[in-house]
Amino acid sequence: MTHSARKPLVAGNWKMHKTVAESVALAHAVAEARVGPRTEVVLAPVFTALGPVAAALRGTNFGVAGQDCHWEPQGAYTGAIAPEMLRDVGCTHCIVGHSERRQYFGETDAGVHRKIVALGRVKLVPIACLGETLAERESGATFSVLSRQLDGMFGSLDAEGADALAANLVVAYEPVWAIGTGRTAKSSDAQLAHAFLRDRLRDRLGDVAERIRILYGGSVKADNAAELMAQPDIDGVLVGGASLDAAGFSRIIQAAGSS
Ligand code: PEP
Repeated sequence: MTHSARKPLVAGNWKMHKTVAESVALAHAVAEARVGPRTEVVLAPVFTALGPVAAALRGTNFGVAGQDCHWEPQGAYTGAIAPEMLRDVGCTHCIVGHSERRQYFGETDAGVHRKIVALGRVKLVPIACLGETLAERESGATFSVLSRQLDGMFGSLDAEGADALAANLVVAYEPVWAIGTGRTAKSSDAQLAHAFLRDRLRDRLGDVAERIRILYGGSVKADNAAELMAQPDIDGVLVGGASLDAAGFSRIIQAAGSS
């Protein structure tokens, strides 16, 4: 399968920003964007705004994502949200393993693995994030870190489990040093990392790897999105800061339409 056969996906991670009313207003503004016929768009507001944003987007092709979930369907896990509960309020996707969850909340690859499996059970699309820190990049460890993370996150998925998930699996390569710093990876460096990830996914899961979309994330803006998405293994973008501005995010969505 070629780059052009995988539908481009543009996801906006609003992190811990915006009230419910502000989130709904932003969703309405983004929904005005001209979206290419093959482009998928997903918005990830805070938990309290998921239901209202999903309701505001009903009747559009836009998806809605949680920014995290638990792996159990219910139970004594104060503060946590189950995949079933995300689906109940209209979510279609869920981000897991974001570097901010890893850095501030102790997220591990093994936990991400359990979340991916739990999301697959209720047919929510996991957007599973990974990426190296600046120290790891500078010490030449980027590819060994990516390998280790992939093994931990997808290690015990067998080919059958992967096949069931694959149409529904998104990986996001987000070098930690590029997130929220204004420092974007060079498109050629990002492509190398994406090609490496796809090769490793192919070793592990077989041909299904061709169908898995691999997004780039890390200071994506309207003026660098097109070049990144033109790379053969970059199938879309996960956007943080720039997704809070409807006009700029709409330009990123349009860039995906021409990739
Ligand atoms: C992110 O939160 O996933 C992200 C990539 O943030 P930013 O675009 O602000 O770097």
